[in-house]
Amino acid sequence: MLVQAPRPCAACAGIDFWHIAEVVERDMGPTPMGVWLDDLGRPGASFELLVCAGCGLTEWWVSDAEALKAHRFPPERWLSAARPCSRCSSTSALHLPMLDQVTGMAPIPMAALVDGGRPAASLWTVVCPSCGYAIWRVEDHVAATSRRGPAGSSCRVCHSSDVVLARSLDATVPIRPVERLVEPQAQYVLRFVAMHETTWALYFWGWFMLRICRPCRRVDWLAQGLDQLRPQPRDGIFKIRVGDAAAPTRGPYRP
Ligand SMILES: [Zn+2]
Ligand SMILES: [Zn+2]
Ligand SMILES: [Zn+2]
Repeated sequence: MLVQAPRPCAACAGIDFWHIAEVVERDMGPTPMGVWLDDLGRPGASFELLVCAGCGLTEWWVSDAEALKAHRFPPERWLSAARPCSRCSSTSALHLPMLDQVTGMAPIPMAALVDGGRPAASLWTVVCPSCGYAIWRVEDHVAATSRRGPAGSSCRVCHSSDVVLARSLDATVPIRPVERLVEPQAQYVLRFVAMHETTWALYFWGWFMLRICRPCRRVDWLAQGLDQLRPQPRDGIFKIRVGDAAAPTRGPYRP
C-alpha cells in the first residue's frame, strides 16, 4: 500500500521538498495531466510531484494507485521482465505512452524534444501499480545532433555524460486563424511546475529541464525557477521536510 514517507533527494540529499498534489497542464485551460487518457481523451488518474527544493530533481507519483489497479490496461502495457520498483520492490510495472491533450485534435504523444513545432522524441512512463511511483523514458532514438548537456551533467542511472537537456514543452491548442488550419498543428508552450488559480487570473511558477540519457533512455525532470513559489495549500502546493510529522496525509505520504 501507499506507505512511502519522503526520502532525502537522490541527487543532492536535500530534505526540503515542494509537494505538488496534482500535475496540471495547459490546454484550452488548465487540465490535469492524465496517467492515461480514456477513449474520449479524458485524463485517467493524475500525477503528483515531490520537487527537491535544493536541486529541482522531481519525483513523480500516481496520486491514486487504486485507480491504476482498477483500470484495464491492454496486455502489451505490462512489462514482462520489470526491474523491482525502487520504492516498494513490486516486480510488476506498466509501460505507458504519455499523451498530451489538445482541444480540437486527437491527443498527441507528449514530447521529450520538439523540432520544427512537432514532437521529435516522445515520453513514456514506467509506473509501479502497487505504490504509484513513476519513472520517465524516451523510447525513440534521440539524435546525437540534439543539444547536448553542459559538461558535468550526467545520467543518474548509468552515469553516462551522453545526455541531452531540453526545456519541457506542453502542446496546447493552436492559436492561428481558422483558414490557416489546413493541417492542424499544436502550439508548444513552456510546461509549468505549479499553478495558482483565482477568479481573475492564473499564476504559473517554474519550468522543467528534461535530462535525457541517450544510452539508457532514462529521463529526469529538473524543476527550475521556483524562487518566488510560496505554499498554497488550497491549490495543493505544500512545502514539506523529510521526517516532518506535518507532512501531508494525502498521496504517497500516507502513514
Ligand atoms: Zn536535490
Ligand atoms: Zn512501487
Ligand atoms: Zn543513462
